[in-house]
Amino acid sequence: MMLLVDDHGNTYLIKGDAEFHTKYGLLTAAQIKNAKPGDLLTSNTGRTFHVIEPNITDYVQKASRGPQAMTLKDLSIIAGFTGLHSGSRVLEAGTGSGVLSIFLANIVAPAVLSTYDIREDFAEIARKNFAKFGITNIEAKLKDIYSGIDETDLDLVTLDLAEPWLAVPHATKALKIGGYLSSYSPSISQSKKLVDSLGEGYWHETFETLKRDWKMDAVRPHTQMLGHTGFITIARLLSR
Ligand code: SAM
Repeated sequence: MMLLVDDHGNTYLIKGDAEFHTKYGLLTAAQIKNAKPGDLLTSNTGRTFHVIEPNITDYVQKASRGPQAMTLKDLSIIAGFTGLHSGSRVLEAGTGSGVLSIFLANIVAPAVLSTYDIREDFAEIARKNFAKFGITNIEAKLKDIYSGIDETDLDLVTLDLAEPWLAVPHATKALKIGGYLSSYSPSISQSKKLVDSLGEGYWHETFETLKRDWKMDAVRPHTQMLGHTGFITIARLLSR
């Protein structure tokens, strides 16, 4: 797999060696087949494309979407604020499009990340994303997290579903002491209900992340931004 970057910063993930069409012209099959990182390809309309190796940030942005997937700023915050590292034991629900699964599996490898969803159609979208990007350290189960968690001794239980408070009693049993529960919700009333369900055993914080991009030629912020994605609660289990 390769990533092409045009002079507007648009990116194109290329798999295989067929000719490739963009709105800036055509790249031939021979150009694609012989391309390697560092090359500069020129289309039939004279536009140029840098060739680089893709990484996980490209995969999560290029993944196929079913249900609403998280954005890179929120994925990064969850991984960073819970101290994930190679070998961390993680259970996620729900899988959805598998975007958070892919991002976290890349960090915890070679450990296997477990993920649950109740919808076979969404699980299928996620499975296709895992296969497309060659991510093999994910065990995806069709399972309702509100009915229990199979895994034990977890470093992180991470939730992105409508009623996260229903998973809290199971997460409390499945986490290591010192492990984290994270939850992402579009509405603050969901976050409030989650936090109220945590009890005395958890330390916790709830926040949202706003990424404000700047127009560096004008040296001012862009006039438009993504105003709201979701509220994140990070809770740490101190005692059961
Ligand atoms: N975080 C995912 C991503 O970045 O691609 C998106 C998750 S999507 C918003 C929410 C998912 O939770 C849906 O696929 C839904 O089927 C699943 N879900 C809802 N209730 C569930 C439950 N009780 N157990 C497991 N999954 C559940």
